[in-house]
Formats: sequence, structure tokens, C-alpha cells
Amino acid sequence: MSTVIYLDHNATTSIGPEVLEAMIPYLTTEWGNPSSSYKFGSKLKGVLELAREQVAELIGAHGREVIFTSCATESNNAAIHAALQATGKRHIITSAVEHSSVLNYCKALEGNHGSHGYAEGGTDRRAVRERQAIYHETHEQHESGYRVTYLPVDRDGLLKLADLENAITDDTAVVSLMWANNETGVLFSVKEIAEICRAHGVLFHCDAVQAAGKIEIDVSREGGMPVDYLSITGHKFHAPKGVGALYVRRETPFSPLIVGGHQERGLRGGTESVPLIVGLGKAAELARKHLPCYEKKVRPLRDALEEGILSSIPNTELNGHPADAGHRLANTSNITFRGIESEALLILLDQEGICASSGSACLADSDEPSHVVKAMKPESTASRQMIRFSLDFTNTDAEVSSAINAVRRSVKALLD
Ligand code: PLP
Repeated sequence: MSTVIYLDHNATTSIGPEVLEAMIPYLTTEWGNPSSSYKFGSKLKGVLELAREQVAELIGAHGREVIFTSCATESNNAAIHAALQATGKRHIITSAVEHSSVLNYCKALEGNHGSHGYAEGGTDRRAVRERQAIYHETHEQHESGYRVTYLPVDRDGLLKLADLENAITDDTAVVSLMWANNETGVLFSVKEIAEICRAHGVLFHCDAVQAAGKIEIDVSREGGMPVDYLSITGHKFHAPKGVGALYVRRETPFSPLIVGGHQERGLRGGTESVPLIVGLGKAAELARKHLPCYEKKVRPLRDALEEGILSSIPNTELNGHPADAGHRLANTSNITFRGIESEALLILLDQEGICASSGSACLADSDEPSHVVKAMKPESTASRQMIRFSLDFTNTDAEVSSAINAVRRSVKALLD
């Protein structure tokens, strides 16, 4: 059997063995409904509360500030929805490099349903585009009244804080900006952003999906970041897919996006998935313990990979802030291979057993160039010629050496 070298941890991660072990009783014998009145079900409430505390500890929050969701896409949608409902205002500020779960929600609010899905639709791209064109025609006349500002980034992927300050108006309901970019690993200055939002009385939502478990997050009142809403998802730090959380600061208004039963104190309807939530809690506990690994183990591995590629393959270029300290995650390298289409290189790498990507896994079935790299380098072809490598503490030196050789061979094959 051929071995796989998995260098796509920003897309998803494996379920940790201890996480799986913690989940098993709730997938087998303890299958009750926590909302039931009898003990077989209701005793699971305590299990949910333990997981809530574990997640809260990862981010310096209180358990009561954590709402379980099905994924970060839901958390992101729910946060923006809540801010709009609470304030009655109609302006949102975000950036051009956010994840599609923020960008497409904002576009939908503006009345531009560019990525609309259809129950009967498949993933056939032409068919999707045709259906989108029809959708545009029929829906463009419905003015939603929401206005969105998409802040630009510079060549390093960073925001200008002055642009944020200038964009805030009396009608701004929420600023939604990510902590760590999923494609480049570039870190926004979220603490300063949070303080600007505070000073202007605007709610701040942070998509912390790629930061959680990789860098320290502190939303506490004791010197932490004064954020109102913060999204995380389990499958980026060795919990299963299909479970996430939304932090909502104690004094911040919230109204649910998913309305139904009284679960999650009425803040998110739907029977809780106890096994997934247990997995999320355990993974959060372990992620806290593993945080130092990112500096000690992952950074040297990533640097060796990055250096190995950039120094030995001509016409390569890093996308994202070059100086790591405070500006880029320790696990991510986004590299342009000038003259080579990302998809062609990915196919050869796949044949070599290397898992990497040309951007967000959520958009992998679209033929669009990376919107993130395009926002950073609009004049160049870098956005069609880049590969994202994202590592983790499960990678090894041997894997990195093999990956460098595989990239060299594949690039040579495409240029010969
Ligand atoms: N936000 C960012 C930055 C992401 O990288 C992702 C997933 O790749 C999401 C949100 C969406 O997470 P989920 O897959 O849990 O919906």
C-alpha cells in the first residue's frame, strides 16, 4: 500500500485516538437524549457541560459563553445574523480574504447569491453556473438593504487598521474578520481590531477556526481580546467533523439562527450530538496541551519544507507575511510555482502520495483562482499557480524530506 504524506491540516485533521476513545461510550451504550426527563437521557447534560468547560478553557471563556453548533460555517453565519438582529443596523465590514462561510453569507445578505446551492443540484460546475445565472436574474431585483465593505489586504496579506477605522459608520452592525487565514496562515492583528471595534461601539466577530489549537486564544476579561463572537470548529484540531462552537461574550446580544427546541438554553435548536460534542471537548483539552508543539515541532518542520522548496526550485515565491513572529501561523506555507498551474502540480503530487491543496477545501471543486492570493497580488498569476502546505505535530522530518523531493520531481516533470 502506498503511503500518504498528509500536508493539508488546514483542510481537516484526523480524529485523535484519545478523542475517539472518549466518544465511544456515547456512540454505543450512552445514546440517550440529554433533554429527556429520565436519568438515562438527562445524565448526559453533565457530559455536555464538561465539554463546554473544556472548549471554554481553550479560549479563556466561561462555559456559559459557549454555544455548540454543527460547524464553523454555522457559527460564522449565526454570529453575523445575531449582530444584525441585535442592532437593526445594515452595514457589515469584513475582508476580501475571509472564508467562504463569511464571504458568501455577506454576499447573500447583499442579494448576490453567487454560491447558492440547489437541493437537486450536483457539483457539475457548468450546471451550477447556469443555475446561478438564473438565480441572479430572478433575485437581483430584491434589494436586501444590507451593505458590505470588503477591506483590502496588502501584498503580505495584512489589513491596514486605518482602512477599518475609516470604514466604520453609524450604520455598522458588525466587523467580521478572521484571526488566521486558512490559505496563507497570515494572522490579522485581532486584538487591535477588537479594541477599535470597542472604541466605536461596533460588535466584533472573529473567525478563529485556523487559530484554535495552533496559537493561544484568550478572550478573558483579564487582558484578553474583547471580542463579541468567536467561531471555532473541531475538525481542525483532531475532533470529528460536524461539530463546532460559537463563543458569545456574556453581555453581547444573541438571537438564534437555528430556531427550534430549547437546547443550548434556547440559543441553538436541535438535539445535541453528544458523541461529537464530547469529541470536541476532549480535542479542545488536548489542543491546549499541544499548543507548545506548534513552536517546538511544527515550526521547524514547516520551515524546513518551505526553505527546501524555495531554495531549490527556481521561480517559486512565498505568499503571505515572510516574518513569522505574530504575522503567520507556524504550520502554513503558501507557495507560488510560477509557470505551473496549481491543479497540474496537485495531480502529480497526489500520484506521489502528497496531500496538499490550492486553497480552501470548501472551494476545491470550483475552478476559480484563490481569492486570497488574488486579493494580495491582483496583478499576477500567483493565485492560479499556488499550493498550500499545512503541517501538524503528526508530521515527521522524513515526511518533509520526501515531500520536498516529490515537489522537485513533479515541478521538473511539468517543466520538461
Ligand atoms: N473558517 C475558516 C477560516 C475555515 O478554514 C473553515 C474551514 O475550512 C471554516 C470557517 C468552515 O469550517 P467548517 O468546515 O466547520 O464549516
